[in-house]
Amino acid sequence: MSQRVPPQHVAVFGRPGSGKSSLAERLSADHGYALVRTGELLRQAVRRRDSLGSPVEGYLKSGALVPDDVVAALVARAVADVGDGRLLFDGFPRTLSQVGILDAWEREKGYRVDCFLDVDIRREAAIARMGGRRVCPACGATYHMVSHPPLHDETCDLDGTRLERRKDDDPEVIEARQRVFEESTEPVVAHYRTHAPGRFRRVDGEKPLDAVYAESLRALALDA
Ligand SMILES: [Zn+2]
Repeated sequence: MSQRVPPQHVAVFGRPGSGKSSLAERLSADHGYALVRTGELLRQAVRRRDSLGSPVEGYLKSGALVPDDVVAALVARAVADVGDGRLLFDGFPRTLSQVGILDAWEREKGYRVDCFLDVDIRREAAIARMGGRRVCPACGATYHMVSHPPLHDETCDLDGTRLERRKDDDPEVIEARQRVFEESTEPVVAHYRTHAPGRFRRVDGEKPLDAVYAESLRALALDA
């Protein structure tokens, strides 16, 4: 990736709690990157119930990981739909085996990711961020006990209802998601950092979201 030309294809990485998905959404909205999110592709496939959807539903229901070749087939289809435009991967490649698949696309079809953007945050900081999230069960308003706290204790500003944690934000679930990231995706980040240093960019994910966004724009040579 040249210093001056924004990358056409970007893959963004970051722990659960790093804010990488909000960052990806903002880059997409402001700079015309089509968002290819593995999680969303899997849910879509299930809704469509097409040839890829039925096996995916089975894996998701049983709690098993969806095999890399199935994920790759869904991603390949989404990439084809985007065509020549700017594209941003959120959640791909997630494993070293998916890295192998992306390498093969580069060799065989000349499909190249120009920038690997890592939103770096320590485990403790990510856990603190996720652990602070609260939601109002009555109206759905969201809060964060550190960055966006309610006015009174842990009650909703709008209707006074006692705030709750999302099921996804239970401490055990948060721990488990950090472990999955460390076991599967951290090696992917290390791989690109070592083997593609010219295409690898790291931003400080512990800063406030606006600062992370500004740093990412500079890393990608995009205008603010
Ligand atoms: Zn409320």
